[in-house]
Amino acid sequence: MTNISILGSTGSIGRQTLEVIENLSDDYFVDALTAHSNVDLLEKQVRQFKPSLAVLWDEADAMSLKHRIGNICEVAFGVEGLKQAASLPSTDLVVNSVVGNAGLLPTMSALDAGKFIALANKEVLVTAGEIIMPLAHSKNINILPVDSEHSAIFQCLMGSHQPPAKIYLTASGGPFRGKTKTDMANITVEQALAHPNWSMGQKISIDSATMMNKGLEVIEAKWLFDLRPDQIHVLVHPQSIIHSMVEFEDGQVLAQLGAPDMRLAIGYAITHPNRLPNPFKRLDFTIHNNLTFEQPDKINFPCLALAYKALEAGGHYPTVLNSSNEEAVALFLDKKIRFLDIPSIIDKALSAYTDKNKHLTIDSILETEIWAREFVISNS
Ligand code: NDP
Ligand code: MG
Repeated sequence: MTNISILGSTGSIGRQTLEVIENLSDDYFVDALTAHSNVDLLEKQVRQFKPSLAVLWDEADAMSLKHRIGNICEVAFGVEGLKQAASLPSTDLVVNSVVGNAGLLPTMSALDAGKFIALANKEVLVTAGEIIMPLAHSKNINILPVDSEHSAIFQCLMGSHQPPAKIYLTASGGPFRGKTKTDMANITVEQALAHPNWSMGQKISIDSATMMNKGLEVIEAKWLFDLRPDQIHVLVHPQSIIHSMVEFEDGQVLAQLGAPDMRLAIGYAITHPNRLPNPFKRLDFTIHNNLTFEQPDKINFPCLALAYKALEAGGHYPTVLNSSNEEAVALFLDKKIRFLDIPSIIDKALSAYTDKNKHLTIDSILETEIWAREFVISNS
């Protein structure tokens, strides 16, 4: 029996996680569900899955949910509620599908409580991988990647006694692959949200359009698989069928292929080391018969180079990268800045920040997050 708490259950990954659980055997139970403010959907999910705890961000929303669901489950709110959902004594596995660095404190609570974590929330590894990974290792906690590229690498490394010589993270290239900066000068929010292969939450959709998503994934891979930056290569593969590859010392390459469906990666993170049947679509090689590769365009999509720069600089620079990106994406979604302002403001934030060799702690990461967000707001 596996009890699962889902942080961010009303989002794209959270909803797909519930679909995966519905299709698994009766051995999998939902223990906690959390949302930011989507009371209506959380109410539906609580009625269907009957968790022991439901959490919303605001107290007023939590009161409204409590009023609607009566005694079905306990209701909590705010960061304390999220931390409680991440550390319930009855929970075996925490699926962290919150978006952004907001997932950091609950991740720490899950680790402190010794829970296995299925991690979709890549931003927390970008900012705090240096703290999270050693802590997980010291406590023998599995961090199971949900991100499809990292799930692919994880699967390719299963059973290998040697680390990879290098990895290839594949990238679809997003909706603007092949476009120049001039072409992208007047990109609208609606155009940037229309991804060719994946249907995702708004923030990651914009990250995919700027290619910051791949930049964040490079840093995520560094921490998950203990790699140097020069071992992590990005390869544009527009069909999104090969989810990533590893190359070993002897030149042999292993790839993981599958339909572009996040439910496959979510399912594997939940059932690992087992593979359980599911009703999701299979690959059909009579249709997917042309797999192509290109080098990423680092000139027109500068976010990827900015991510490598932050990774090389280390310390709090990845937090500056991530938090200035989160704020810039929010401003773009609010139509307050233009698409091409996103990389330029992140570049400015990275240049303006002086780390002064500060020791990396959760508090220093949260302080740096505030600095980066304020920098973006006052410089845009
Ligand atoms: P969504 O925006 O669709 O969902 C985010 C979830 O987190 C929602 O439940 C939302 O609640 C909740 N949430 C948002 N902000 C906060 C906050 N400040 N505090 C607490 N909860 C919050 O995002 P996705 O599902 O697309 O992405 C989730 C994570 O998974 C991201 O880190 C993303 O990079 C990663 N990922 C996503 C993939 C995808 O296909 N979508 C693929 C690979 C990785 P509410 O609904 O109430 O707003
Ligand atoms: Mg990914």
